[in-house]
Amino acid sequence: MIVVGGGLCGLMAAVVLQRQGLGVTVLDKGKGIGGRLASRRLRHGDILGCCDFGAQYFKAQHPLFLAWVEDWLKTGVVKVWAEGMGTETGAIRSEGVKLYRGEPSNRSLAQYLAQDLKVINQERVNSFHWQDGIWQVRCDSGQFYVGDRLIVTAPLPQTLELLTTSNINLPADIQQTLTGVVYDPCFSLSLLLEQPSLVPDPGGLWLSGEPLAWIACSTKKGISPQGYGVTVQAGPEFSRHHLKTDAEQVIQLMTEAAHPWLGSKVLNSHLHLWRYSHPQNSLDQPFLFGDFPGPVYFGGDAFCGGKVEGAALSGLAIAEHLLG
Ligand SMILES: Cc1cc2nc3c(=O)[nH]c(=O)nc-3n(C[C@H](O)[C@H](O)[C@H](O)COP(=O)(O)OP(=O)(O)OC[C@H]3O[C@@H](n4cnc5c(N)ncnc54)[C@H](O)[C@@H]3O)c2cc1C
Repeated sequence: MIVVGGGLCGLMAAVVLQRQGLGVTVLDKGKGIGGRLASRRLRHGDILGCCDFGAQYFKAQHPLFLAWVEDWLKTGVVKVWAEGMGTETGAIRSEGVKLYRGEPSNRSLAQYLAQDLKVINQERVNSFHWQDGIWQVRCDSGQFYVGDRLIVTAPLPQTLELLTTSNINLPADIQQTLTGVVYDPCFSLSLLLEQPSLVPDPGGLWLSGEPLAWIACSTKKGISPQGYGVTVQAGPEFSRHHLKTDAEQVIQLMTEAAHPWLGSKVLNSHLHLWRYSHPQNSLDQPFLFGDFPGPVYFGGDAFCGGKVEGAALSGLAIAEHLLG
C-alpha cells in the first residue's frame, strides 16, 4: 500500500493500516515529516528559538479523534495549550474549548506517529500508473514503488496535478467536485527576538485578518524555552497579493505590521509560503474512493471539515474503509 503525503491524514491512515498488519510505505516530498504540522528552529549565535510555522493548535471535537488525543496526552506528545484564544478586539475565540499543541512542538506529533512507519522523505511523486493489477508510483528521484492500493493525501490542487501527469481522467462530476475546493495561500513568518514579545497570555492572538491574521509567542506557548520565537501569519488577501513579491520585502511588511506585539529587535527570521494553507470550503464526505482505474483514495483536510482534526478524521476513515 502506498500513501502519498506524510501529513496528519496520511500518517493516521498509515498507522492504523500498519497496526492491522498491512505493509505501508509513506512517500513525502518534504524534508521533514508532518506537512502543515510544521515546526522550525531559528538560531542567532548561542540563542535557539522554535516556531510552529504551520498549524498553530488543534481541537478534538469528534469522539473518535478525541480518543486519539487523550492517548497522546498520556504519552506526553500532546499538551493542552489553552482553553480559548484572544483576539485583537478583546473577544475570546473558542472559549472553554481545549486547544492542543504538540510537545515539544507541533511537528513532534507527526514524528511520533511516523516512528514505526516506513516513511521516505524528499521523495516527490510525479505520477502513478495502474498496470497488471498494481499501482506503480513514480518519483522525481527516479525511484518507483508498487502497491495494490493508493492513498493520496496532498492538497487537492496538487492531487489534481498528479492525476494530470498520470494521464488519469476522472469522471466529470468527481473532477468538478475536486476542482471546486479552493485553498488560500498563507505567508508564515518565524522570528527570533532579542527580548520577550508583547503577545498577551496564553501566547496567541487572532488579529484583524489583513494584513495579518495571527501572531503567536513560542515562549508563552511553551515550545521555545531558550529563545524568544514568534510566528506571524498573513491573511489570505495579503498573501495572494504578494505571491510574487521579493521575500525580503514580505518579511519587512509583515514585521512592520507585527511591530505592536514584537517590542524588541529581530535577531533572525524565516519566511515560508504555504500555497495551500487552508481550504476555503470542505467536502461533505470523509474521503473520495474509486477505481481510477485501480483502487485509489483521495483524502486530507479538504474533507471532514478541514483543519488538523478533519485531516486526521479523513485518514482514519480511509483506513476503516480499506480494512472493510
Ligand atoms: C499557516 C497555517 C496555519 C494553520 N493553522 C491551523 C490551526 O491553528 N489549527 C488547525 O486545526 N489547522 C491549522 N492549519 C491547517 C492544518 O495544518 C491542515 O489542515 C492539516 O495539517 C492538513 O493535513 P493533511 O495531512 O491533510 O495535509 P498536509 O499536512 O499538507 O500533508 C500533505 C503532504 O503531502 C505531501 N505531498 C504533496 N504533494 C506530494 C507529492 N507529489 N509527492 C509526495 N508528497 C507530496 C506534502 O509534502 C505534505 O507533507 C493551518 C495551516 C497552515 C498552513
